[in-house]
Amino acid sequence: MPKEYTSEDLVAIWEEFLGGQEMRHKVNEIADFYPEVRSLYVDFADVEMHDPDLANYTLAKPTVSVQSAEEAMRRMVSHALTSPYIHFRIRNLPRDSRIDIRKLRAKHLETFVSVEGLVRKATEVRPRVTVAEFECMRCGARLFVEQEGMQFREPLECSKDEGGCGRGSGSTRFRLLTEKSLFVDTQKVEIQEPPEGLRGGSQPERLVGFVEDDISGRISPGDRLIINGMLKSHQKGTQTKSTLFDLTLDINSIEYEEHEYEEIVITPEDEMKIRQFAKSPDVLEKIVASISPTIYGYLQEKEALALQLFGGVSKEMDDGTHIRGDIHIAMIGDPGTAKSQILRYMAMLAPRGIYTSGKSASAAGLTAAAVKDEFGEGRWTLEAGALVLADKGLACIDELDKMNDQDRSSIHESLEQGTISVAKAGITATLQSRCAVLGAANPKYGRFDENRNIAEQIDLPPALLSRFDAIFTMTDRPDSVYDQSVASHILKVHRRGEIRLHESPEKIPDMDARAIMSDTEILVPAMDIEFLRKYVAFSKRITPVLSAEAMSTLETYYVTIRKLGEGEESSVPITARQLEALIRLAESSARARLSVIVTAEDAERAIKIVEYYLNKVASEGGRRDIDLIATGTSRSQREQIYVLRSLVQQLADERRGVSLEELIQKAASDNITEERVRALVKRLSDAGEVYSPQPGYYKLASEERMA
Ligand code: ADP
Ligand code: MG
Repeated sequence: MPKEYTSEDLVAIWEEFLGGQEMRHKVNEIADFYPEVRSLYVDFADVEMHDPDLANYTLAKPTVSVQSAEEAMRRMVSHALTSPYIHFRIRNLPRDSRIDIRKLRAKHLETFVSVEGLVRKATEVRPRVTVAEFECMRCGARLFVEQEGMQFREPLECSKDEGGCGRGSGSTRFRLLTEKSLFVDTQKVEIQEPPEGLRGGSQPERLVGFVEDDISGRISPGDRLIINGMLKSHQKGTQTKSTLFDLTLDINSIEYEEHEYEEIVITPEDEMKIRQFAKSPDVLEKIVASISPTIYGYLQEKEALALQLFGGVSKEMDDGTHIRGDIHIAMIGDPGTAKSQILRYMAMLAPRGIYTSGKSASAAGLTAAAVKDEFGEGRWTLEAGALVLADKGLACIDELDKMNDQDRSSIHESLEQGTISVAKAGITATLQSRCAVLGAANPKYGRFDENRNIAEQIDLPPALLSRFDAIFTMTDRPDSVYDQSVASHILKVHRRGEIRLHESPEKIPDMDARAIMSDTEILVPAMDIEFLRKYVAFSKRITPVLSAEAMSTLETYYVTIRKLGEGEESSVPITARQLEALIRLAESSARARLSVIVTAEDAERAIKIVEYYLNKVASEGGRRDIDLIATGTSRSQREQIYVLRSLVQQLADERRGVSLEELIQKAASDNITEERVRALVKRLSDAGEVYSPQPGYYKLASEERMA
């Protein structure tokens, strides 16, 4: 049981603590700079060292204790003219006070707790009245009413004690003197549990907190913080009061995490193991073998996913230009090709990984939103979406093609600059979203059609697609050799899963369970997942630099491929965006070995990945054409569009236009198939360039547009 104190005792004890030379100096300094500086920050350990009883009391009864400390400060620095109100803020509470949001219980009410979390929502900063000054409309007396909580309180009577006329609120009116009343800045925030603490895909729990005065406005959505404060209860319901109470936190102090991945503790022994592992010749192979081992195949894809974990180097140039290091990967595939499974696995594996769907139900969606709802109590609230919550981590976005329009327009900024800007109503904010993105989507018509160009069937805007460093397509076509391997793999996965549930597998009749288990060792991740996560977190401390050989390897590749596009009839085979993707992939390959030097082999590995995917998505009839992803239209398609448009122009009859049949017939001499004519006519009419004066006939929408 903590020691009890009378309030006068408590102030005296705090005065003693603050009277020490160092503290006294700090308090006086704050008083000198008041009101620019309004808070004294104290380490909990200092209080504990000075007086353990006082420290314990403060944890148990923080509200009175902090108020007494503030009173003690006021006595120290009050002068005849000014009486600064300095806040007393305590940081670095003991480990015991660190409570997970989901473990907060009634016994924690009114105590000092420390919670770690991610800021999901933060309102605008708005003033709250703390002491309202009123004037009695009958006698002119001035009355003061202290305001607490959200309900505004008016005087009940014009109190004679305060020199008033004694009339009750029924026989006089009170006028609020806004300019005479005292206000304080406030902000309401919502914190959610950090994703790494969540087990088995459970939903993160949330806690509402209030900040006041000088520390309001410093918290923005997406921040990772430790907040210390008094846990309060708040009665539910506004009209009819309920016996249920909600928990809220009156925030006393905020601590920011200083280092990246602080949630992953790496001990000196860990570091030794990590450095040892980095020396093995097959580092990347082992990591690849730890990525979704229950999923058969996809070796090249898994290698790219392994590199994504490490990431390239994000750079700040001399002129202030920022170049991203995050590697973004898109997987476009037929249903049932294990995309979702892989995404969920990567979200689990990556430090600060988040799994979400493009169809997200929250207002913030994937990016962020400014909303005016119940939470803000009349204020605008800025709410972070998945890409902000995954800052400095990996955002795995399933069903990327189903995202809403707002996300569609703001996701580019996140992918390229690592920020998301919100400008709506009074709110203009830029939130950080420096995360790598692993996106998955289905083909436009649900399944890839082998006879059509793959790129045409990807239902993502080209401007978005071309920001991905690698785009993998996964087609699911019956193929007896492959099917047999997948089937046998999946069956093994299930049998192993069944045996794992048996406490004594040797007792399963007619089965050599031990042999089965050892035969399926390949389904066990090659590395301990916890260790892999530490390894990835540690690797971020390494900043690889391109070697001369790596540079010339990448340069030669780029220039050679570009040369293919030099002829007049040729397409653009690759752009500088792919060169940057190559650099990032090569850097991450070096990082995976904890190597400061990017070698020629790292560059080769990057080239292999880019070649692999470009071959599938950016080639048409054996010819490489990056415009398939960069603009959504290949060179040959573009040419066909021109041909078709001029056919419409030439053949269209003034009144009726030209029939589809005639177009198909004439286009055949330009080697354009019937199917393509139909598709291109649809495209032209979708774009508003042609219209139908009557069904089946087409005409150019406007002659001027052709010019
Ligand atoms: P998608 O999201 O691509 O539609 P899912 O991730 O839902 O596909 O996969 C469907 C199921 O098929 C999953 O249970 C997955 O494990 C299994 N599966 C698909 N392809 C493979 C594969 N190559 N190896 C093992 N299992 C697979
Ligand atoms: Mg899926």
